Amino acid sequence: MTRVAGWGGVPAVDACERVGEALSEVCRPASLTRGLGRSYGDASLPAQAGATVASTRLGDCVLLFDREKGVLRAEAGFRLSQLDALTRPAGWVSPVVPGTHHVTLGGMVAADIHGKNHHVAGCFGAHVRSLLIQVADGRELEIGPDREPELFAATLGGMGLTGHILEVEVALLAIARPWLVIEVEPAPDLLALVAALRTASRAWPYTVAWADALARGARLGRGIVIKGRWAEPGEAPAASPVRSCVDSRLAVPFDLPSWVLAPTSIRIFDAIFYRAHCWTAGRRVVHPDRFFHTLDSIRDWNRMYGKRGFVQHQSVLPAAAGDEYMVRYFETIVRHSGASFLTVVKDCGAEGRGLLSFPRPGVSIALDLPMRGAATQALVDALNRLVLETGGRIYLAKDALTRREHFLAMEPRLAAFDAVRRAWDPERRLRSALSVRLFGDAA
Ligand SMILES: Cc1cc2nc3c(=O)[nH]c(=O)nc-3n(C[C@H](O)[C@H](O)[C@H](O)COP(=O)(O)OP(=O)(O)OC[C@H]3O[C@@H](n4cnc5c(N)ncnc54)[C@H](O)[C@@H]3O)c2cc1C
Repeated sequence: MTRVAGWGGVPAVDACERVGEALSEVCRPASLTRGLGRSYGDASLPAQAGATVASTRLGDCVLLFDREKGVLRAEAGFRLSQLDALTRPAGWVSPVVPGTHHVTLGGMVAADIHGKNHHVAGCFGAHVRSLLIQVADGRELEIGPDREPELFAATLGGMGLTGHILEVEVALLAIARPWLVIEVEPAPDLLALVAALRTASRAWPYTVAWADALARGARLGRGIVIKGRWAEPGEAPAASPVRSCVDSRLAVPFDLPSWVLAPTSIRIFDAIFYRAHCWTAGRRVVHPDRFFHTLDSIRDWNRMYGKRGFVQHQSVLPAAAGDEYMVRYFETIVRHSGASFLTVVKDCGAEGRGLLSFPRPGVSIALDLPMRGAATQALVDALNRLVLETGGRIYLAKDALTRREHFLAMEPRLAAFDAVRRAWDPERRLRSALSVRLFGDAA
């Protein structure tokens, strides 16, 4: 038995983790599959404490890398950090990346992850050409946009509930130079921040904003917008950065005491972070990992939240709802003293193919919240009521505390997802702690 948890550390359960190189043997029909456990809440946890979970972390072989066409096929446990090291020097990168490179291809598909370029590139699943999947009765099938398209669509963002992804084939993105040109722009308040983000997204392929969730009054939601694009010849060296600049030896060695990330220290951190970026505003060329995976530069940074851990709440507020909802969202955080160390705001583009994929046109807000029991639950409830009013939704890969009634009200697509699941897994053999909490599966 090992203690397994998502990245936030809550909840954590004892589970029997099966690890091995031959994925089709490791992934047996009735157990959930997990990658590197970088989803935050209970998505990668078994439905029941003590049950078996299959880990893909040793199944990481590359099966094909076509350097001419930019196509990669690999086993589901192949990590984004490995992909970067292999393909970037050859002029190809993953078309969509999350904020950490410690994720597996299987996890990227199962969460249908989005990146800072969602407004132009959609989710990872939009670039997946084919998957080898083992469904609940043990059969292995090759699926894709034209082969078993319903099962394929349900698997993108299906959080591992449609089958075990064994292999992933993805079309890569060609780049001229393996360096990023970035530009940093401060914004004095929330509405200015969102306006600057939207303007930036019209001209830049990668955009993201960081907001100070504890600033009050006229400075509510102040922050910085960071824009990026791959460098052109003449702007940066042709040589690839030798190694990742974010995999340093800097690490948080143990769970820090909870006062370290108390509201006062977070307020001070946020204020310093904002000022520091005001001073460094402007354009420069950086190592791509510095832009895409900044947080990876401190190993085990989740330990800063101490033994009680933390949860993340990420939601998308549809553009049609109007910006006043964003103001109400930030006022709710301030009212609940919901200190968030890093509040990330992104511009989402069109909805993709995945039946339960998270993004839809609008603004996504992601908060890290130190776990404070009932107070944190009350804040998540309040935020979810607001998300519901706007017709928005939450991101399953980041969720730990959403109540089932809120999820059902947010997710009219669930019936279509359930229909596919019924067709391929009528007994719901594939379950997770998340599917018990939100989808009504038996424990
Ligand atoms: C610092 C940080 C930044 C992040 N930034 C972003 C971001 O910008 N955008 C974004 O979209 N996400 C982001 N995430 C979330 C992360 O990308 C996803 O949760 C991703 O799924 C994690 O991959 P993993 O391999 O660790 O999967 P796990 O966390 O182990 O599993 C995630 C889900 O995928 C399922 N799964 C995993 N492998 C398989 C498989 N082989 N077959 C079937 N199901 C499988 C699991 O059952 C589970 O439901 C971030 C996470 C962290 C920690």
